[in-house]
Amino acid sequence: MKKIIAANWKMNKNSKEAIETITELSKILNNSLPEEKEVIIFPSFISLEASTHALSSTPLQFGAQDVYPAKDGAFTGEVSPSMILDAGATWVLTGHSERRHVIKEDNTLVGQKTSFALASGLNVIACIGETLEEREAGTLYDVLTAQLNQTLAKLPTPLSPERLVVAYEPVWAIGTGKTANNEDIIEAHAIIRELLKNILGTSASQIRILYGGSVKAENAPEIIKLENVDGLLVGGASLKAESFAKIINA
Ligand code: PEP
Repeated sequence: MKKIIAANWKMNKNSKEAIETITELSKILNNSLPEEKEVIIFPSFISLEASTHALSSTPLQFGAQDVYPAKDGAFTGEVSPSMILDAGATWVLTGHSERRHVIKEDNTLVGQKTSFALASGLNVIACIGETLEEREAGTLYDVLTAQLNQTLAKLPTPLSPERLVVAYEPVWAIGTGKTANNEDIIEAHAIIRELLKNILGTSASQIRILYGGSVKAENAPEIIKLENVDGLLVGGASLKAESFAKIINA
C-alpha cells in the first residue's frame, strides 16, 4: 500500500501560480516520485483544470477541495463530481475542518458528499477530527465515532479500498503551528482503524489513514513512521514547492 502525501492549497494560488508551483515541484522531484508514495495536489476549483492540463505528464494526481452531492441542477455555486472528473481530477476532499467549522457543514452532508463522489467515480479523502474543546472534554472517541459512522454511512458497494482514504486532522492543529504529539496521533489513528473495522470488516486494514495538522518538512519524517499513519495531508507547508518536496521525500 503506497503512502499518500496530499497538498491542500485551500483558497490560495490563481491558475498561473498553481502551474508555477507544480512545475517547480516536478523539477525538484525530477518528474518522478519515491516508489512507495502517491502525491495528490488539491488546488482551488478555479485553477484545477489549468493545473491538470498543463501538467498531465507529471506523476502527480489532482483533486478538488469539495464537491456537491448531485449530478446537476439548481445548486448555485456548487460543483458536481462529473465536472471535477472532466477537469482531469480524480480525487476530492470531503469534510475538511474548515468546511465543517467555517462553512458549517454537518456530518449528514459530509456523508452524502462522500458516498455520491465515490459512486460517481471520484476517489475520496474524508477528513475527521476533534476541536480542542471536544478533546479537553474527553469526547475524542465519541466525536471520531459520530463523524466516521455518518461519513461512511452509505458507501457504494463493491468499493476498492484504495479509493477511500480517511484523514485525521485535529482541528486545533490545523494552521496553528501546533502538531499533535506522537501519542495523540497513534491513539487517534488506532481508534479510526478500529472504527473502520466495525464499518468495513476485513478491508479496513487496506484503508489509508492520513495525519494532517501543521505538518512541516521538519516533523514529517517522524510522523510518517508512526503506527497506522499511511500518509500526510499538508496545508501551509505544501504551498512552497521546496518544502513540499522535502515532505514527499521524508
Ligand atoms: C489542512 O488544511 O488540511 C492542514 C492540515 O493545514 P496545515 O498543514 O496548514 O495545518
